[in-house]
Formats: sequence, structure tokens, C-alpha cells
Amino acid sequence: MNRYNFYAGPSILSRYTIENTAEAILNFANTGLSLMEVSHRGKEFVAVNDEARQLVKDLLDVPSTHEVVFLGGGASMQFCMIPYNLLKKKASYLDTGTWASKAIKEAKIFGEVTVVASSKDKNYSFIPKDYTVADDSDYFHITTNNTIFGTQIQKIPQVTVPLVADMSSDIFSRPVDVAKYDAIYAGAQKNLAPAGVTIVIVRKDALNKADRSIPTMLNYMTHVDKDSMFNTPPVVPIFAALQTLKWYRELGGITAMQKLNEEKAAILYDEIDRNRLFKGTAAVEDRSLMNVCFVMNEEYQELEAGFATFAAAAGMIGIKGHRSAGGFRASIYNAMPIDGVKALIETMKEFERKN
Ligand SMILES: *Cc1c(COP(=O)(O)O)cnc(C)c1O
Repeated sequence: MNRYNFYAGPSILSRYTIENTAEAILNFANTGLSLMEVSHRGKEFVAVNDEARQLVKDLLDVPSTHEVVFLGGGASMQFCMIPYNLLKKKASYLDTGTWASKAIKEAKIFGEVTVVASSKDKNYSFIPKDYTVADDSDYFHITTNNTIFGTQIQKIPQVTVPLVADMSSDIFSRPVDVAKYDAIYAGAQKNLAPAGVTIVIVRKDALNKADRSIPTMLNYMTHVDKDSMFNTPPVVPIFAALQTLKWYRELGGITAMQKLNEEKAAILYDEIDRNRLFKGTAAVEDRSLMNVCFVMNEEYQELEAGFATFAAAAGMIGIKGHRSAGGFRASIYNAMPIDGVKALIETMKEFERKN
């Protein structure tokens, strides 16, 4: 039986990434040493770090105004680093879920924060679209994909101020117009690498503008100035990230990933809409291509535990929904093959036939 990994994060990685990383852990770049025991300043690892940063730039068409750094602390660390570095007086935030609201909480420590809209009273089941962003905001923060509630911003808002985005769960899933952003950040463990590294893309001339002193490690400039090597970086996750980035390039880059993602999500949502047992929880126009959330239809509520067991027995791993959303969530990140999605669809059909 094939087993498919639908966990939301840490989540599925390509075999290419896992095997190459396993090999480097045993013998890194023919040094006869493990990737885990070599100096991060040795030429072999410096080459990995540089190539990974360059590949992020190539794949996302990052303009020369921006720099890419790999930091520790997870995406959650960025909730404070963003306002620490970029919030001069006030910032605007869109509240689309648990992660967005955590980012808002941290920003309030640093200045005036306007929440332009929120979908909290509808359990974050949609993306608010009717709002205005004040022209004097230092930036407008969005969460492009809401991992827990399965919504995704399908049309990036047109605003007059720079955007800042948490792209933890949809970076590399579709093209991005990086020029519109003062900063983009993403924890690695959704679409790139094992947990431990966070990608940050910052516009260099947006830095050092806030009138406050910033601790060295929390200042983006520190890391930009040192080519993302100020201190010991998360060596193993960065190596793994490079493998995934090479794999994306091999498959045809980000537009090819987008095409695959659209295809995978479309067949799964079609099944959710067709199958009498299930229904989707996110507003149709805001459905995430990465995290597909669904529940049992009202009249079949009592089958929920049964489907969880049935799916697990069929090799569908990690489809339990987040505790704040309930039901089921199938995370179908870039590394999920279409065969995995088809297998899940088969499992849903089979369960419908049995009930
Ligand atoms: C997972 C996730 C986070 C938190 O990431 P950590 O690396 O655990 O701090 C933040 N934002 C989004 C959108 C996420 O999916």
C-alpha cells in the first residue's frame, strides 16, 4: 500500500530532497565528513548557502533591489522582526486567520496597527476584500495562504503602500511580483525543507528607516550585510532547501508548479463538491490550493471518526483538521504527487459507496 503524507507542516518533501540530504549527512560534498559536522564557513557549505539564495532569486524573479536571507526562529520570529525593522509609525494588517492574528499582536508592540478587515466572526472561512488601506501606512501585511482554515488570497490586493507577506504555506506554489513587497517571509517546513530555517526576502532600501535601535540578531541589515552568514545558519535545513529548489527548477520552475497545483486542487475540490458525504469549509473563490479543508455534511456528522480511521487505513496520513477548524485538511503542497491526490479521492469515493 502506498502511504501519502498530507500533514500541514512539517510536511511532505520530495524524495530528491530527502535522499540527497541523507547522503550529505553521511558524506558531504566528498569531504568524507557529515554535513552536520563541517564548518559553515568552509567553502563547500558557503557554496550551498550562496547557491540556495541565488536559486530563490532565480525561481521567484527577485529584483536586484531585494536580498534573500535564511534566518532561524521560524515564521513566528518574523511576526516581531517585521515591525521591529519596518514599522516606523503605523502599519495595516489583514486578519485572515490564526497566524495573521499572531502577527498583529506582535506588531502592536512597535506602533499603531490598523486591522483593515477580519473574517474572524465567520471562523476565518473567507478572505475579506472590501477594505481600504491608509496611504500613510508604512506597510500592509497579508498572509497569502491560511494554513489552518484553507483559504488563500487569489488576487493580491492593489494598494498604494508596500506589501509585507507571510507566505509560509504557499511560497514557490505560484509566481510572485516581488517588487511590490518590502518583505516576504516563509518558514521552510511547508513547501521547502525541514523546520529550522525561514526564508526572508527584503527590499534593501526599506531597512534602517525606523527610529529605534534593533538588537543585532533581529536587524535584517545584519544578515543582509553578511550574506546570510552572520552567525551559524541552520546548515542541514539550508542544504535540504537547496535540493528542493533544484527540484523545482528541474520540473520547470514556479509556473510549472502552479500548473500542477491548480490541477491537483481542482480534482480534489471537485470530489468534495460531488461527494454527498463531504463539504468544503472555505468560500469557493478563496479556496486554498495548498490546504484543502473539508468536513462531513450535517446529516453525516456521525461518520467523521469512521472516515478518519478508514482514510488512515488506506494510507492517507495526516488529514485530521486543525483543532480550531475541525473536520479534515489535506495539505497538498508542491511535493505531493497528483497520484496522492487521486488516491485520496478514491478513498473518499470508496467511503461514500460503503455508507
Ligand atoms: C506554519 C505557519 C507559521 C508558523 O511557522 P513557525 O515556523 O512554526 O513559526 C506562520 N504562518 C503561517 C502562514 C504558517 O503556515
